[in-house]
Amino acid sequence: MEENQRLFLMASPLQGHITPLLHLADILFSKGFSITIVHTLFNSPDPASYPHFDFRSISDGLSQTEASTLDAVHLTDLINVRCRNPLRDLLAAALSQCRQRVPCFIADAALHFTQTVCDELKLPRLVLRTGAASSFLVFASFPLLRQKGYLPVQESRLEEPVVDLPPLKVKDLPKFPSQDPEAFYKLVCRFVEECKASSGVIWNTFEELESSALTKLRQDLSVPMYPIGPFHKHCLTGSTSSTSLLTPDKSCMSWLDTQERRSVVYVSFGSIAAISEAEFLEIACGLANSKQPFLWVVRPGLIHGSEWLEPLPSGFLENLGGRGYIVKWAPQEQVLSHPAVGAFWTHNGWNSTLESICEGVPMICMPCFADQKVNAKYASDVWKVGVHLQNKLERGEVEKTIKKLMVGDEVNEIRENAFNLKEKASVCLKQGGSSYNFLDSLVSDIFSLESSTSKAH
Ligand code: UDP
Repeated sequence: MEENQRLFLMASPLQGHITPLLHLADILFSKGFSITIVHTLFNSPDPASYPHFDFRSISDGLSQTEASTLDAVHLTDLINVRCRNPLRDLLAAALSQCRQRVPCFIADAALHFTQTVCDELKLPRLVLRTGAASSFLVFASFPLLRQKGYLPVQESRLEEPVVDLPPLKVKDLPKFPSQDPEAFYKLVCRFVEECKASSGVIWNTFEELESSALTKLRQDLSVPMYPIGPFHKHCLTGSTSSTSLLTPDKSCMSWLDTQERRSVVYVSFGSIAAISEAEFLEIACGLANSKQPFLWVVRPGLIHGSEWLEPLPSGFLENLGGRGYIVKWAPQEQVLSHPAVGAFWTHNGWNSTLESICEGVPMICMPCFADQKVNAKYASDVWKVGVHLQNKLERGEVEKTIKKLMVGDEVNEIRENAFNLKEKASVCLKQGGSSYNFLDSLVSDIFSLESSTSKAH
């Protein structure tokens, strides 16, 4: 038995990145590795949820104003600069003191600075990509897209197909509302380059879902690829642990118990997206007018300029007679697996998209930025498990789209597609399935990685 191996892992400190990294750590723990999680002080995970892991913090040098920015690109840029020396010092000390073999460092793709640190320490680096392979393929094509004039996106070309990346149109290309529009392009190009310099990329996806993108990426990146997802569906020792930075309001589960099968629209736009007060009111009225029951996550900070629900007309929920339920944060995986949930109105963050796929819940797609537009396009046009909220965010459109997905003619077909995809997401994890086999390869490849810090035991 090969033993005494310790893995160091580091997440990008955002909810949609922390969750898959902790799940990956749990998967590798279940394969016999000891785990150290390196994290920033900003958005640090709760060690109490993972008593079987060792947690080490590093200084991120972020001021309170910097840490409270909604500009995730700017934040990631700062972390890539300011964490470099602290990580190198921590790893150098840990490697010299650690009595176990440390075969590699596993870092989120967005933390591209970790490649330089690992090169200095002669420590192999594996990358965790928390997004889809299909959106990464778009990121890897950024220089080509710019060369061909698709980027930066021009309003006059939105409906044009991107010939190199079917079925995408120009309007589906990733954009980011950053204070510096060029910063997103540069960040993406840099993390793609550092993936090529890594010892391999681990994906929270599965071969059957994204075989075409994975095949192209194998050629483009020329490093080993390990699509071992969906992470959260592996049988994990610590599977009851919470990865949430916010406390989920579990009261919504008993409310769901009182609702009819497949009747509820679950509405959540993830941990970062924000909307205007006018958009919030259109959503509220559209939900009310649809006559379907709904569970809505209104995160504090979701509405620009509001603390929480102040813009909601007074008596809004009371007038619905129990048909609507609002929480600040939901236990999303549990919600999606509840039989009362019939549709998920989502911003198509990759975690949300994959969680919906795993539970066979059809989606109403309302992507906001970054990779979400690509995920939404695949959900609607490739996997055919979702419909787009068309045109602008307006109450009549909302009502129409909800009815289309809950009671319209297309319902049965979309539900059947969603059910079939759920089956595939489950089969790939079973013995002999694609993700099961890739995980075996990942574990044996980690054992055979040559790190200069390896210790013989
Ligand atoms: N999530 C949750 N409760 C909520 C809303 C979201 O637990 O009320 C979780 C969700 O299950 C997912 C993550 O937060 O794992 C959001 O990640 P995603 O990639 O979908 O979007 P992001 O927040 O990165 O935009």
